[in-house]
Amino acid sequence: MEELLYDKDCKCPVCRHRFTTKKIRTRGLRIERREEDFNVIFKDINPNYYYIWVCPTCGYSATEKEFDNITSQQEDLISKSIRPKWKERSYGGVRTYSEAEESFKMALLIGQILNKSKSYMAGISLRLAWLYRETNNPKEITFLTHALELFEASYQTERIDEQGLDEVSLAYLNGELNRRVGRYKQAVRWYSITLDHPNIKNKRHLQIKAREQWQLAKEQNDEAKLNSN
Ligand SMILES: [Zn+2]
Repeated sequence: MEELLYDKDCKCPVCRHRFTTKKIRTRGLRIERREEDFNVIFKDINPNYYYIWVCPTCGYSATEKEFDNITSQQEDLISKSIRPKWKERSYGGVRTYSEAEESFKMALLIGQILNKSKSYMAGISLRLAWLYRETNNPKEITFLTHALELFEASYQTERIDEQGLDEVSLAYLNGELNRRVGRYKQAVRWYSITLDHPNIKNKRHLQIKAREQWQLAKEQNDEAKLNSN
């Protein structure tokens, strides 16, 4: 597994210390399967464990893409609010499950303090939910719900580039997340938005998936109705 990882040199934009964090050699990755909410399971390693960069000295944590995106005012905010409580520790080695979990929680906490965009916070919540799915932890649903509510709020109001998701893919994801947390009616509505979207024509695979999942959500909705009678 370790040959799939290499050390990346980083410099913390808050405290200016240098540290290393593990990155994945994507060339060596072999896909095991893809799940309907875009989670990809790889054979030898879970790249998700290394998604968040954590400064060992001050605790500042963010995704690689957002790591340097911080103003000097925000740097002060982190120095004052996080650093005094942070016990120096490194996340730069091969991460355990709980280190991965902690890294996501730090990124969410810091994202809140810095008032990061909804789609950024949603993307981190979704990945934390996937981590909990690995161990059948019921917190999966809590974080899928967080992700869903943030993604729904960001639809058409934010530029969606953090996750590399275009609008039609995000509409589909909103359907799938609603379905997974048991909101079947909303799921059906979002799958319909996906299928009616003008860009769906360029995404044949997504179109097929959205039709399948629309059907599934309809069935689950009927079943839930029956059970509640
Ligand atoms: Zn730092």
